[in-house]
Amino acid sequence: MINIAIDGPAGAGKSTIAKAAAKEFGYIYVDTGALYRAVGLFVKENGKDTTNEEQIKPLLEKLTISLKFIDFEQRVFIGERDVSSLIRTPEISMAASDVSAHPIVRDFLFNLQRDIAAKNNCVMDGRDIATVVLPDANVKIFLTATAEERAKRRYHELITKGQEVSFDEVLFDVKKRDEQDSSRKIAPLKPASDSIILDTTGYTLKQSIKLMIDTIKENI
Ligand code: C5P
Repeated sequence: MINIAIDGPAGAGKSTIAKAAAKEFGYIYVDTGALYRAVGLFVKENGKDTTNEEQIKPLLEKLTISLKFIDFEQRVFIGERDVSSLIRTPEISMAASDVSAHPIVRDFLFNLQRDIAAKNNCVMDGRDIATVVLPDANVKIFLTATAEERAKRRYHELITKGQEVSFDEVLFDVKKRDEQDSSRKIAPLKPASDSIILDTTGYTLKQSIKLMIDTIKENI
């Protein structure tokens, strides 16, 4: 199977760009952030503390997460329930970042991600795909942009969806998640030694997609 690993900080445009690249190559697009979001949602729904590993542990025994691909589009399920929309709020973004710092949560999701990559040609995006989940991926890309640029993009995305947020709030969240994701002890956000770094600051979406597709073609 051909596996393309794409990592990078929140709001670098990974999902949009990786999805477009997956389409170009006819591979499935796997958004692993959705898995951490689903865990975060489940912990919140059960009224537990997302920063407390002891509280999360018993919940994982009751939790079944699965991904389904409908026309190459990913949907995420908790049991039989499609939670794909519910996980896209700023509150769940932070909950996902909290739960992702616990080794028990990362172990819980590891096999699921490996299994998908073993069975499908895929473009998989996340934070530790090249470093931990798929160290033997055919191409490894670290996609980034400045925090301000990423906050600008995320702000427009949320506003378009009708959510009420201020730019400063979004920038604060982006920086806080960067700090939290990069400084955690386990699987911190960083490029693998053989990752290709793509910085899309100042690029339009179209230019970023072209850069990604060209880079994959040159390195596959
Ligand atoms: O990519 P997305 O913003 O949906 O990810 C939500 C959170 O999940 C991230 O802030 C990060 O803490 C965590 N995550 C992770 N490892 C991954 C994917 C996401 O730790 N492979």
